[in-house]
Amino acid sequence: MDDVKRPDWWCYPVACRRGHPWGPGLVSVSWTPCGCAGGDGHLRVHCREQGCRETWYKPPHEPGTEVIGYPPPVRGA
Ligand SMILES: [Zn+2]
Ligand SMILES: [Zn+2]
Repeated sequence: MDDVKRPDWWCYPVACRRGHPWGPGLVSVSWTPCGCAGGDGHLRVHCREQGCRETWYKPPHEPGTEVIGYPPPVRGA
């Protein structure tokens, strides 16, 4: 089933929540600034399976705390 070879340092999930195996070359790893989790941002691991949008955050992301663009959107103008 899951015959993906992972190095000893692999510290990410072994599969996305939709069941696609994760390993070197199977994910995109990036960094995203964010206001939650102390404000330092997250390591972001994105599933590269076509059509899959599963993303994993470390430390865990709190939904609703996405970075607000600058300048902030003006409401009721
Ligand atoms: Zn996936
Ligand atoms: Zn966050």
